[in-house]
Amino acid sequence: MKETQKTAPTIAVIFGGTGDLANRKLIPAFYNLFLDGWLPEQFAVIGLGRSEPNDDDYQQHLRDGLGQFSRSGKPTDEQWESFQSSIYYLQSDINDPESYRQLADKIEGIEAMWGTRANRMFYLSVSPRFIEAITVNLGLVGIASNPELDRIVVEKPFGHDLKSAKELNQLLTRTFQESQIYRIDHYLGKETVQNILAFRFANALFEPLWNRNYIEYVQITVAEEVGVEDRGGYYEGAGALRDMIQNHLLQLLCMVAMEPPISFEAEEIRNRKVDVLQAVRRLSREEVGKYAVRGQYGPGWMKGKQVPGYRQEAGVDPHSTIETYAAIKFYLDNWRWQGVPFYLRTGKRMQEKTTSITVQFRSVPHLTFPSAMSDNILPNRLIINIQPQMDIRLRFIAKKPGLDMALTPAEMVFDFNAYSHQSQSPEAYETLLLDAMQGDATLFMRSDQVEVAWDVITPILETWESRPSLEFPNYPAGMWGPENAEALIARQGHTWTVAQAK
Ligand code: NAD
Repeated sequence: MKETQKTAPTIAVIFGGTGDLANRKLIPAFYNLFLDGWLPEQFAVIGLGRSEPNDDDYQQHLRDGLGQFSRSGKPTDEQWESFQSSIYYLQSDINDPESYRQLADKIEGIEAMWGTRANRMFYLSVSPRFIEAITVNLGLVGIASNPELDRIVVEKPFGHDLKSAKELNQLLTRTFQESQIYRIDHYLGKETVQNILAFRFANALFEPLWNRNYIEYVQITVAEEVGVEDRGGYYEGAGALRDMIQNHLLQLLCMVAMEPPISFEAEEIRNRKVDVLQAVRRLSREEVGKYAVRGQYGPGWMKGKQVPGYRQEAGVDPHSTIETYAAIKFYLDNWRWQGVPFYLRTGKRMQEKTTSITVQFRSVPHLTFPSAMSDNILPNRLIINIQPQMDIRLRFIAKKPGLDMALTPAEMVFDFNAYSHQSQSPEAYETLLLDAMQGDATLFMRSDQVEVAWDVITPILETWESRPSLEFPNYPAGMWGPENAEALIARQGHTWTVAQAK
């Protein structure tokens, strides 16, 4: 985890420096780190792209992006003047070795000016098909060969299935040591996700209850209001299982279910997370229908506006059988969680945008109060809202004010924003970029973590691909997913609770 230690001189090279991710997330993150005093004095960004702008054009393009996407808003002239001098642009072709020699000259020129060998961070903000060319060429020119100082950051998607993820890991480790590779899952950089660790392991109150004896079930929901937007082409090759469950939802599951780490060392935390994924009971192909539900949105209404179905979106096959919704019931085979269902669900075009975790505790063992008083006794429930709402809510039962002894559910709320002294929390990419610059891999995915996450979903992936759904579309846009998803958890007398949480 980050400390207020000084970051060493750093050169961040962004492959795909003119792309959407760089403009919306990476440059705003560097800029806000700069404003908040986290960047070293000797810091440079070299943006790489195919087009021909010079440093000035590129800087103007980024300044426009900051006005639109930075949490701190439009830079003032003074702020921008000091930040822009750190930004360089290099026209380059990812497949051309000559571009890497030019990059080497640029990096060495900056380091000569600083009089020091900088940390070099190579950020691959490009399509995964370029990872091989970049890795091989960086290896050939030898500009990323110092395992202590040089790092490579790889964006999602990390592989398409278990086999391709393994191949990608092998490819990267031919040129880099594992300790140099930072696989991003931006969910892990979110403040409220990191707070799960603080909540669980810096408080004595909850951990003794955090097990099968007291917890009835856990739900993790990542619901999006948006459809596929302009990413139809990409999504046709992915689907909800690959795009969300394999990474973000399984990572949240790890945070909720992991054993207490003995230290905050990156390897220790990552080991405990891998333990969780290894404990996930693997489904047989025959069980997939019983434990997993898929859905695809049809046309519907979102906030009073009519929206098209998935099959009508740009870049999507009109007969597509790709799932835009997935709900899965997992069990963990270990002492702590034996028999406790973990319900994971994610979907596009859902009624409300929310990411949240619900921990449902068991009912009291004996009802002391007569039934007339205790109609309203609901089991304790903890809800951790990750986004956009950022809070933790604990439901408990209290006496209704009044002369009679009537009971009613009440809620204690910890509001993350109200508690923060800063006007805004840092964005996930700020946390992750700073961690990568400081060489802290705690919040990044290790190779075995990625592979075991693919392994967990492989039976579902393969079953769904070999038996395309005949029911799609099976939920209208603006709803909470297909009816089968209710049935999936109703079998145990449970309901999806997140939508009613607020
Ligand atoms: P993009 O299409 O907007 O940008 C692609 C970049 O690659 C451009 O800068 C382009 O100049 C460069 N490029 C393409 N071919 C090149 C070549 N032959 N030589 C040199 N440069 C070349 O893509 P993006 O949305 O910025 O996404 C980049 C990566 O990040 C993808 O892997 C994507 O899945 C991932 N990602 C993006 C987002 C997002 O919000 N945009 C979120 C999560 C992950």
